[in-house]
Amino acid sequence: MPPVVDHVPTDDEVVFLTYDDGAERDPRFIELVRERRLPVSMFLTDSVVGPGYAHFARLRAVGASLQNHTLDHRALRGLPYAGQRAEICGQQRKLQARFGVRPHLFRPPYGTYDTTTLRAAADCGIAAVVLWRVTLEGDGHLTYTRGAHRLAPGDIVSVPSGEAPSLSLAERTTRLLGELEERGLRVGRLEDHVRQVSPSGGTPSGGVRGRGRSGRSGGLGAAAAQRRSPRPRSAAHTRTKNAPHRRRAAGNWHSA
Ligand SMILES: [Zn+2]
Repeated sequence: MPPVVDHVPTDDEVVFLTYDDGAERDPRFIELVRERRLPVSMFLTDSVVGPGYAHFARLRAVGASLQNHTLDHRALRGLPYAGQRAEICGQQRKLQARFGVRPHLFRPPYGTYDTTTLRAAADCGIAAVVLWRVTLEGDGHLTYTRGAHRLAPGDIVSVPSGEAPSLSLAERTTRLLGELEERGLRVGRLEDHVRQVSPSGGTPSGGVRGRGRSGRSGGLGAAAAQRRSPRPRSAAHTRTKNAPHRRRAAGNWHSA
């Protein structure tokens, strides 16, 4: 089973920027990624990206990685294996055909999943299921699903697609980069940290929370997955509970 992570245990002063769906195609965002050399991860949904994949090909060319966020953005939890597998493997095939990539990371729509999801993801070649602890809201504020309400090394930041965000993708990201700078943090490449997981590190009881087996940074926590099970977190639920200063209208945001 692939580990489920919303935070990466690491001593590196990095956070990970992950962008959901692929609805917002901001040309200035491509420029920002190029100029600042940001190793961001784009979790793409085929039905959202549609024919607009040239934008993401350009993003990939300037350093972004393209990852799996299903074909149709269905909530997977509770669906039969075949349906879940079709959503995940189908998007693996689309991304392979369109961009020539084989994603190792998968984010379930709305952050909801079950053990069937993990089995299907593993069978589709996914190395880790990626949730998030931090959300960059449409107005540039950060909200937190759990833990301390400040950015910390190893945090995974989700940037949802907004229907009418008050700040553009480039503006929101620039604001976040300013905050990272103040805290002495930089943007890390999530895939690199996932690859530091040793193959035997993923058993539920032998989790690698804290330091990786190598003693260096890395090691995605299987413990994190275990902690959340058997009640997978609903993104909608946690976002409502922990975002007092958010001022979005209900349904205006496509949370993950
Ligand atoms: Zn999504």
